[in-house]
Amino acid sequence: MLVLVINSGSSSLKYQVRDVSAGSVLTEGLIEKIGMGNGGDGDGEIEGPRDHAEALELVDAAIHRELGDLELGAVGHRVVHGGERFAEPVQIDNEITRAIERLNPLAPLHNPANVLGIRAITKKWPDMPQVAVFDTAFHRTLPEHAWRYAVPDELYTNHGIRRYGFHGTSHEYVTRRAAALLDLPVEEFDGVIAHLGNGASVTAIRGGHSVDTSMGFTPLEGLVMGTRSGDLDPSILVFLGRAGWTPEDLDTMLNRESGLKGLAGNNDMRSVVEAAESGDAKAATALAVTSYRLAKYIGGYHVAVGGAKALVFTAGIGENSHQFRALVADRLGALGIELDAGLNAERSREPRVISTPQSAIPVLVIPTDEERAIAEATAAVVSPAG
Ligand code: AMP
Repeated sequence: MLVLVINSGSSSLKYQVRDVSAGSVLTEGLIEKIGMGNGGDGDGEIEGPRDHAEALELVDAAIHRELGDLELGAVGHRVVHGGERFAEPVQIDNEITRAIERLNPLAPLHNPANVLGIRAITKKWPDMPQVAVFDTAFHRTLPEHAWRYAVPDELYTNHGIRRYGFHGTSHEYVTRRAAALLDLPVEEFDGVIAHLGNGASVTAIRGGHSVDTSMGFTPLEGLVMGTRSGDLDPSILVFLGRAGWTPEDLDTMLNRESGLKGLAGNNDMRSVVEAAESGDAKAATALAVTSYRLAKYIGGYHVAVGGAKALVFTAGIGENSHQFRALVADRLGALGIELDAGLNAERSREPRVISTPQSAIPVLVIPTDEERAIAEATAAVVSPAG
């Protein structure tokens, strides 16, 4: 089956056409500057559509230019927030679209944009099966003691304030791949998955299910990220609010100006590692804070899963930065974790083990592929028999 995978943002639309049985990408692209006025900047990229419907016309034209006539079997949408309702990918109809929209207050930047993508497809291809794959769904198995915040109950009951977790599609995909690499049925996989990209989260997996994860009510909680602070004392916000910072000021500071960028002036891990290696003290501090925070989570999640059988690194930093992996592993000696320096430094796109045979548990690098996971989930929902 050919599946069109759509990641619809407020001003961008990312797409891939995948052959699910072959596991291959047939074509992909990115339409930018939706609703920002016409006029590309001449660099060869298609841009400047008025709305998502126009963007979809550009996608359709690009797909046909690349691949000629082809028949798409379904469209799979990345949807950020599935709230408490969605624990699995679902086939989209009007009621599901409205349910996703009702979750807008929980993900004001993302869900409305996801719905624009869904509506554009519905309008253009009314009979096309569409599936929503939710970033939060994999974390619906969190036990209540992990998802509750210790705040007055009515904040949960009236406002939905609880931990939801994100990056679920990636964590689930990597969990399955890690279990396969270790020759374990996924239901016997207990481990810790560190998804370290520009956004970063770590998940505790017990019996193949998510039992805790570092992102919470929003993707801000948890690890130090490219531009997000991760955990901090919430009283800092009260303090700054009293000093005149507006909610928008706080939001910008925490989500866009913090993390590696706040500490080292740069949100790109490669640049921060290079700067630290050439003696930049701020970059070294940023790496120390970031690796320490992650190591603390891994230690905690080792307890949460009742003894991890593996530690897994994935996403841009997790897959590529051997220096950052080494910094984290150096802090995990108490767990008996030991990397093989040679294996860790190897460049490869394959799932692999990077720990020594003496390491108490294997450390793995598993490349994530969210689009592949979305395409597979979409095909499975649309034609369950395969
Ligand atoms: P992602 O959001 O998964 O695309 O990951 C982005 C992050 O991965 C950025 O911090 C990049 O600096 C980092 N990254 C990508 N490639 C490399 C690399 N070869 N070495 C170190 N970090 C990398």
